[in-house]
Amino acid sequence: MKKSLAWAVTSVAALTLSVGTALPSHAATQPQPSPSAKIYNATSDVTAKDRATMDRILAKLPADWQTRRDAVLKEHHLEASPVRDVVQAKVANVINPDDYDCGPTKLDAYVDSILKDVDPGNLFLLSMIGALDFPSYDALIYGTPKGANYQLPSAYASSLTTTFGYAQRFWDVRLNDVQLMAMHGTMMTDTNRVARMVTLFYGLEGQEAIDLANDIISIVKSDAGLQNGENPIFTLNAFAYSAVGETDPVFKRLKDKLVFGDGILAALKGIGLNQVGPKAVMGHEMAHHVQYEDNLFDSDLEGPEATRRTELMADSFGTYFVTHKKGVGLNANQVLQAQQAFYAVGDCQFDATGHHGTPNQRRAASAWGAAVVATSNNPNKVLPSLKLDAKFEKVLPQLVAPDAPTSLDAYRKVAAN
Ligand SMILES: [Zn+2]
Repeated sequence: MKKSLAWAVTSVAALTLSVGTALPSHAATQPQPSPSAKIYNATSDVTAKDRATMDRILAKLPADWQTRRDAVLKEHHLEASPVRDVVQAKVANVINPDDYDCGPTKLDAYVDSILKDVDPGNLFLLSMIGALDFPSYDALIYGTPKGANYQLPSAYASSLTTTFGYAQRFWDVRLNDVQLMAMHGTMMTDTNRVARMVTLFYGLEGQEAIDLANDIISIVKSDAGLQNGENPIFTLNAFAYSAVGETDPVFKRLKDKLVFGDGILAALKGIGLNQVGPKAVMGHEMAHHVQYEDNLFDSDLEGPEATRRTELMADSFGTYFVTHKKGVGLNANQVLQAQQAFYAVGDCQFDATGHHGTPNQRRAASAWGAAVVATSNNPNKVLPSLKLDAKFEKVLPQLVAPDAPTSLDAYRKVAAN
């Protein structure tokens, strides 16, 4: 199945480990357990108020809510993300293999900073019921380029639209049917829009959907740290979507899309990459659309290695585009910043199916893309995408090697071949 790919997406499992939910419930041995006893184990540090809120919400969900949630999140994945992994790694105390230089990037500190005023119980609950993904799915299903709720933020609209147009014309595949739009966390306080997501995720209709939506909204509104949905955690991603291969009636009718969250723009600004970061992300996401058109998602690889290949390819293609004179034409210093953007969102979750590549691997993939431009003997010539792919497949083993260099110069020789 074709997959839509996310730059960075908040997701349902984000904080699962923080309150010990992975441990089995003791509900069977307790008298009249509350529904939340199946979510929170007996010893987890959860307030009575949070348990009561969870009980109230669970009472409204269908019995198979977790299965339904996973079906929406997995089958149509706006896929697992660096941010989710950053948070998970933090709470799970993941130890990284010694031979890879893999550690926290500026994004880790940024995620810490946006979550510091959020009540952990609320974050966990929203995460569990998939609500951190509601803005993504709302934009995916209901967003249109002209829709009032999906307009690009004014500070970025011109730059993103221009870069998007450059990318559409740069590549040798049909990209003029891709729709560019934004997603905003403010939908998290709109009863009808949250209710639509409750229907999508859990099959609840009418007043039942509205009741549950209002419960969710009251959590968002009552927690000052969530900023009425404007906390970047709700929209910390950008993603490319293509319906090719989809069979679900809701998803297969959707247009090709490129959705930018306010949160990813805020994050890039927060880590000092406001100028180049959004262009780099645009390059990466449009590279995914090139992959859809060229059928480049298929390979002999499986699981995390398969995802890593397509993600690193998107980093390479994206950097090729932003570096190339016929693309964005960034200068050398800006290219370094683009590489930094890819580095920052790398992840250390080697075993996760959403593994995008480590920070160093992503920077290496980006450096190689820039090196292909730097070593070209005709700066006006854009390589056919399949030719660039053939070069990428050859260099991929070098990019993922433990001691892979991350500078443009290190790839000059191999890029020129
Ligand atoms: Zn991607």
